[in-house]
Amino acid sequence: MKRLEGKVAIVTASTQGIGLGIAERLGSEGASVVISSRKQKNVDEATEKLRAKGLEVLGVVCHVSNPQQRQQLVEKAVQKYGHIDIVVSNAAANPSIDTILETKESVLDKLWDINVKASILLLQAAAPYLRKGSSVILIASIAGYHPTTSMAMYGVTKTALLGLTKALATEMSPETRVNCIAPGFVPTHFADFITSNQTIRKTIEDKTLLKRLGTTEDMAAAAAFLASDDSAYITGETIVVAGGMPSRL
Ligand code: NAP
Repeated sequence: MKRLEGKVAIVTASTQGIGLGIAERLGSEGASVVISSRKQKNVDEATEKLRAKGLEVLGVVCHVSNPQQRQQLVEKAVQKYGHIDIVVSNAAANPSIDTILETKESVLDKLWDINVKASILLLQAAAPYLRKGSSVILIASIAGYHPTTSMAMYGVTKTALLGLTKALATEMSPETRVNCIAPGFVPTHFADFITSNQTIRKTIEDKTLLKRLGTTEDMAAAAAFLASDDSAYITGETIVVAGGMPSRL
């Protein structure tokens, strides 16, 4: 079933990991997908990989905290496809494992810039081109509900996305729905420092009810649902995709 036929999707940070998984799933459901990340080589390789699977893909270099590159991402999408229906804001940084009180101001700025502000600025750029019925998806984290010590400030930026989802859903309604996904632990490059340690990995697996880590496909399935009209009456919500890890009532 191709739920996204005729739709145009922008996915940030989508040349590997969860972003790439989401791009592939949206493309396989019929969307034209604009993928992006900081490095041209990664963009070229991911574009080629997805096109080889028969998907309609445009690759654009975009470091999400670069204003010109954000604008270009939107403009190239619109030049090629005429409009935008889906924006998945997926980029994030976690540059330090310091406690909050020990985190340098420059690191606090970077976390805020990439994890929160860039989503807002990208949506400011994309908003004029969003069609009626469009869907915005922010990628938060289970850490947004429980900012644990090694990911404390990163977790707090993800908590901010839960609020941003509610606020934007109000502001962008009724034309655009805004929802959020809070992934559990997925063994990607980003989470390597946690998931490659067998002891920590086992501890995390045990904290899930389903006794496993998440996959990029698990996250992509939730994103495709939120992007599609199957979620037409859902906005301002966060779906926790974390195998039953404790999040909230
Ligand atoms: P990943 O596998 O490490 O992929 C990171 C991607 O982001 C790459 O394509 C990278 O390509 C790109 N990228 C990095 N910094 C960027 C920037 N400033 N601007 C644009 N692109 C950038 O990461 P991931 O695990 O899929 O994480 C994706 C999202 O899921 C993040 O928001 C993260 O917080 C969230 N998340 C992940 C987990 C997990 O366990 N993995 C759990 C909860 C939430 P370039 O190097 O070419 O830029």
